Amino acid sequence: MTCTEPAYAKLNLTLDILGKRPDGYHDMRMVMQSVTLADEVSVELLPEPGLDITADLPFLPRGEGNIAGKAAAAFFRETGLPQRGLSVHIRKHIPVCAGMAGGSSDGAAVLRVLRRALAPEMSREDLEKIGGQVGSDVPYCIRGGTVLAEGRGEVLTDLPPLPPCHIVVCKPQFSVSTPELFAQVRVQRLRFHPRTEELRAALEQGDLEAAALRLYNVFEEVLPRRCAPVFEIKSRLLDLGAMAASMTGSGPSVFGIFRDEEPARAAAEVLGEQFPQTFFCRPAEKNV
Ligand code: ATP
Repeated sequence: MTCTEPAYAKLNLTLDILGKRPDGYHDMRMVMQSVTLADEVSVELLPEPGLDITADLPFLPRGEGNIAGKAAAAFFRETGLPQRGLSVHIRKHIPVCAGMAGGSSDGAAVLRVLRRALAPEMSREDLEKIGGQVGSDVPYCIRGGTVLAEGRGEVLTDLPPLPPCHIVVCKPQFSVSTPELFAQVRVQRLRFHPRTEELRAALEQGDLEAAALRLYNVFEEVLPRRCAPVFEIKSRLLDLGAMAASMTGSGPSVFGIFRDEEPARAAAEVLGEQFPQTFFCRPAEKNV
């Protein structure tokens, strides 16, 4: 039987870097939000062992090179359950290398399906621990919704949901290297940090406007000059009626939050003429 699981994209309402750790990772503080822009991950369990992972984008890695394959391998390794054959096909809708954790979300979707099918008694926390072995964003992607992510991104605290709104996400046609951006950050020299506690208070009050005003991503301070379109898209989103706009993750995608649907759809149409990877979406709820 084939099970098709949505793998929602994540946006960073905030992204803060607190310092570098002895293990080489950075200590992060991020408010993550999943949105309805999603890949479709079809998983079929087969009686004979073997891992067949494919995607409708031919340039993506197959098998264990794909994050979905890494996730499947980690599931059987960590649970000790007998290895089953697995056929996974991913229909990509989330842009690749976009700061939206598309690959991590595909891996998380596979983990959710495997837990449901083979280990229904496993807690969400234990599944998230397995996800942490696959990648820093995978534990969050297992959970989805509105979450404070700390540590490498794996220490998760549920937050009240972002109030209903409409979101336009726009990915310009270049990529940004995440390690390159981290290398540019000198934490002591960052001029601003997101006011994470104020965002949290706004979410607790269900105040969309106050929450939108707290969007902030420290990576925007260290973007190389060639990333100027990020700021162009931000100001276009604001001109087109967004309450606020920010880059997500290590970019280059930018999103704007709108109170009303009509201006958001109109903004997506206008931006889509120049940037074909422009999407209209809404906040998504928790997965598990
Ligand atoms: P993040 O926001 O977590 O930094 P991203 O959105 O920038 O992620 P992804 O699209 O998740 O980047 O992943 C990009 C890299 O991972 C590419 O090099 C791609 O080849 C590889 N990859 C492996 N599996 C997948 C997958 N299922 N979907 C997308 N990319 C994948």
